[in-house]
Amino acid sequence: MFPFFSRGLRMEQKKRKLLMEPVRELLPQGQLLLPLPGAVHAGARLVKEGSTVTKYEPLTCPQTHAPVNSPVNGTIRELRSITHPLLGETVCAVLEPETAKKGRAGKLHLEEGVDTSAPEGILAVAQAAGIVDEYDGVPLYHKLKRFHRFGRDLLCGVILDEETYVCGSEAAFREAPEELAAGLELAAKACGAEEWRIAVASLKRLQGVDWVREHREKMEEAGLVYPSWAMLEKRLRAAGKTPERIGAQACIALYRAVKKGTPQVKTVVTVAGEQVKQPANLRVVIGTPLRELLDECGCLPESRIFVGSPMTGKLVEDLELPVTADTRCVIASPHTREIHTYACIGCGRCAAVCPEKILPWYLYENLQRGGYTDPEQLLRAQNCRGCNSCSAVCPSGISLGKAVRAAAEVRERSGWE
Ligand code: SF4
Ligand code: SF4
Repeated sequence: MFPFFSRGLRMEQKKRKLLMEPVRELLPQGQLLLPLPGAVHAGARLVKEGSTVTKYEPLTCPQTHAPVNSPVNGTIRELRSITHPLLGETVCAVLEPETAKKGRAGKLHLEEGVDTSAPEGILAVAQAAGIVDEYDGVPLYHKLKRFHRFGRDLLCGVILDEETYVCGSEAAFREAPEELAAGLELAAKACGAEEWRIAVASLKRLQGVDWVREHREKMEEAGLVYPSWAMLEKRLRAAGKTPERIGAQACIALYRAVKKGTPQVKTVVTVAGEQVKQPANLRVVIGTPLRELLDECGCLPESRIFVGSPMTGKLVEDLELPVTADTRCVIASPHTREIHTYACIGCGRCAAVCPEKILPWYLYENLQRGGYTDPEQLLRAQNCRGCNSCSAVCPSGISLGKAVRAAAEVRERSGWE
């Protein structure tokens, strides 16, 4: 059971040792299974089975998603449909990397005449580079356009990593704080935000980073109570700001795309958990099978594997599934006894922990009774952040997050204000 506070919960960190070690590069051992989101139809794909591709060559031109660029020189062996726990149904390219050490040099494919110092040019680069935010899996250019439309004045680059084990964003920041700051500044310019800040869970944890000491005014401390962004956002709104956030790795990818012409083809993933012998932050090519990460870190047999985040992540059955841009961690846990659900005992923990003052038990009870007939019964369900804190603190083991999401969907479908 987690220690919980009014509006949030505190998790064990279990990452001190990991943060002292550099990010390790893991080269792919064999074929990559490269997800092609938004390219279910052949018209959105630029390659077919048998195509030879060059490093950084675009493989897709989807309407609704960022294009995917090839991480290596190689050959497309197959196009395969998979069900991925984070992406759902998606088409993947089975990409066989070239074995020759000296490959053809590649560069980001960008239309002629794009001015990368102007907001529109930065957005065009974010799109062409296929940058996806590691915190929510949304293409960066979509987010920046939306922030511009809503007139946001403060953009935060987040390295919160407040959940147990996960520290990939912080590890990426420790390696390249200047690049993260420069990328965030570019993103702020692209979306018209006047200010930018780097949001961290704990400044104490970053004491040894020179850049942080020299730029204290650019840091915002959110605290270690989960979900910390919800708390920080409320504080900033109370101070009259309209904040938005993007992930640390997305910021660094934007800097590299604009200044060095390289697309996002890699991500930093934390591999940890009770069943992992040597936890690590690994920099891996997107499309690498999860099995290669677990083999590298020594995963014990009979483990349950979760991807995404420890609080909201999904169970994976097939370890041949690929790493995606929003795979922030791969956690291996021991098999536990079957989990039983009991009746609500009315302790009120779920309501106390919720950052949005929702009454999850009330929504759950209505769902049990057969649904909602009155908008009054849906009480702020649409504000749910999907943090799952309510489920984590429930002594009866009830999946409250699911019940709240169901209530929010009812509200959306019904059009109730
Ligand atoms: S999942 Fe939704 S209802 Fe549950 S604590 Fe988080 S915000 Fe509240
Ligand atoms: S749903 Fe769970 S946490 Fe909420 S009041 Fe009931 S027993 Fe307590």
